[in-house]
Amino acid sequence: MKKIWVFAEYVNCTLDRVALELLTKAKELAAGLSGETEVAAVLLGSRARSACKVLAEYGAEKIYLAESEELGLYNPMLYAPIITNLVKREDPDIFLFGATAIGSELGPTVAAQLKTGVAAHCVDLRINEKEQLVANVPSFGGKILGEILCPDTRPQMASVKPGIFVQGEPEEKEPNIIEEDVRGIKTEGLPLKAITLEKKEIVGVPLEKAEIVFCGGYGLGCKENWEKLEKLATMLGGAAACTRPVVDEGWAPGEHVMVGTSGKSIRPKAYVGFGISGATHHICGMKDSGLIISINKDDKAAVFEVSDAGAAADLNKVLDQLIAKLS
Ligand SMILES: Cc1cc2nc3c(=O)[nH]c(=O)nc-3n(C[C@H](O)[C@H](O)[C@H](O)COP(=O)(O)OP(=O)(O)OC[C@H]3O[C@@H](n4cnc5c(N)ncnc54)[C@H](O)[C@@H]3O)c2cc1C
Repeated sequence: MKKIWVFAEYVNCTLDRVALELLTKAKELAAGLSGETEVAAVLLGSRARSACKVLAEYGAEKIYLAESEELGLYNPMLYAPIITNLVKREDPDIFLFGATAIGSELGPTVAAQLKTGVAAHCVDLRINEKEQLVANVPSFGGKILGEILCPDTRPQMASVKPGIFVQGEPEEKEPNIIEEDVRGIKTEGLPLKAITLEKKEIVGVPLEKAEIVFCGGYGLGCKENWEKLEKLATMLGGAAACTRPVVDEGWAPGEHVMVGTSGKSIRPKAYVGFGISGATHHICGMKDSGLIISINKDDKAAVFEVSDAGAAADLNKVLDQLIAKLS
């Protein structure tokens, strides 16, 4: 029997939605494999049992559960060996992780321990005619979509950002829990210790939940224009977002507002982009928005190819006029 596994990230008593998105995708991948294929989830944490039912309802036929107080705070030095041993015992063919802060560290750590590879920050996954996992990753500055295969070692591993895949509909199911014996694990003596978890309070509408997103690119040119974008977003009850260079320049507050393959994937009802060229790395994170409107002074900018409406205009004027109109 073939096996597809999904790492179910569980932090602060909350299951990350990417696990449910990946389970939905795993079921689709399973349909592309011949013979019987089992989809399973791997869940580590303290008091994590309650998450098993949700995982089952989204397609996990089995849930490998490692539950202990010591696993309450994520620590790669505790998590990775448990998962590695589980993989060595059960031998899954495919293992998927969310490309979150935790998954982006844990996936490659487990892969290195197993001497296999990980395709990181994938934007799509499929099974080819040889029944291998094909992982699509933007390459060469986002100009092409590379296909990554792992033909010689198992499991074939991949990480995918939250929001890339859509989570399916849950079906009423009772979980089939395979409990791992982790009574012996100890945090003492580990060179890395997780001390506490601090949650950053997000001001305004969270980017993933906003119905309208105003996104700024390098064309913004300065921090003042980013602040205008935030003002505009607040005025319309939306959220402000940006491309990679805007974070690098220090105009935006951080990567939590960045959209793209290494940022967030969003699907607002409306996305309005200012001074964005249309690199694949960014487009991957916003292409599924309802209505896409772009403002760029270059009428040949690639972003117009994915836009429903656009204006070849100077964003400085458009921003000021919009704010004046709404004030
Ligand atoms: C591994 C990797 C991962 C990456 N991940 C991401 C990611 O997650 N998200 C992301 O966004 N990028 C990511 N990038 C970077 C990405 O490849 C592009 O470099 C980036 O998206 C370009 O941002 P931009 O469109 O804002 O800037 P630019 O490409 O520099 O475009 C700026 C645009 O602004 C226009 N402009 C300038 N002045 C004005 C004006 N006054 N009025 C109107 N228009 C104006 C210009 O015509 C131009 O089209 C990644 C790159 C790599 C290598």
